[in-house]
Amino acid sequence: TTFASLGLIEPLLSALEKMKYTEPTDIQSEALPHALQGRDIIGVASTGSGKTAAFALPILQKLWEEPKGLFTCVLAPTRELAYQISQQFDALGSAMGVRTVVIVGGMNAVEQSVALAKRPHIVVATPGRLIWHLENTKGFSLRTIKFLVLDEADRLLDMDFGPDIDKLLKIIPKERTTYLFSATMTDKVEKLQRASLSNPIRVQV
Ligand code: AMP
Repeated sequence: TTFASLGLIEPLLSALEKMKYTEPTDIQSEALPHALQGRDIIGVASTGSGKTAAFALPILQKLWEEPKGLFTCVLAPTRELAYQISQQFDALGSAMGVRTVVIVGGMNAVEQSVALAKRPHIVVATPGRLIWHLENTKGFSLRTIKFLVLDEADRLLDMDFGPDIDKLLKIIPKERTTYLFSATMTDKVEKLQRASLSNPIRVQV
C-alpha cells in the first residue's frame, strides 16, 4: 500500500513526503481505509506502531473537506503524550493551516484559555484539565466536535480518568466519529468502548 493509493489528499501527501513517511505502517494501512470511509475505529496498537498518524490523517482529511470550528478532541493520559500528538497534527497539517492546542495539567491555565480563544481546530488534552476549562473558560465548549479520540485508553483508565471521561462523553455531541486506541484490551477498555463507539471496526497489529 502507498499513502496515495489510500486516497489521501494532496496537502497530506506532501506533508508525509516532507516527514519522510514513505509508506504506511501496518496499523496505518489497516485503519486508514475504514477511517476514511467514516467508520469508528478500535485500534489495538502501542506506541511506535504509527498509531498517531493512523488517527490524525483521516481527521485532517475530513477537516480539509469541512473546515469549521473546533473539530476534534483528543484525550491522552499524560502531558508528554499530548504534546507528541499535537506535534504530529501540526506536522501532518502543516500545508493546511491547522491550529492545534494542548490542554494539560501542570501548565499555565490562563495561557491555555488564551490559546482556546484563538479558535483551534484540534484540542489535545488530559481529561481533568479539559473539564476545568469547560467550567472556567468563557466561550469554550465542545459543542462542535466531530471527532473524539481516546488515545492509550488502557492508561487513561489506569490513571483513574474514567469518571472524567464519562463526564466528557455526556458533553461531546453523540453525532461524531470516535477512535479508541489501546495497547491492551482490558475489561475496562471494552466497557469504555461500548459506551463511546458506534459499530466500530477493530484493527490490530
Ligand atoms: P507513534 O506510534 O504514533 O507514536 O509513532 C511512532 C514513530 O513513528 C513516530 O516517531 C512517528 O513519527 C513515526 N512514524 C509514524 N508513521 C510513520 C511512517 N508511515 N513512516 C515512518 N515513520 C512513521
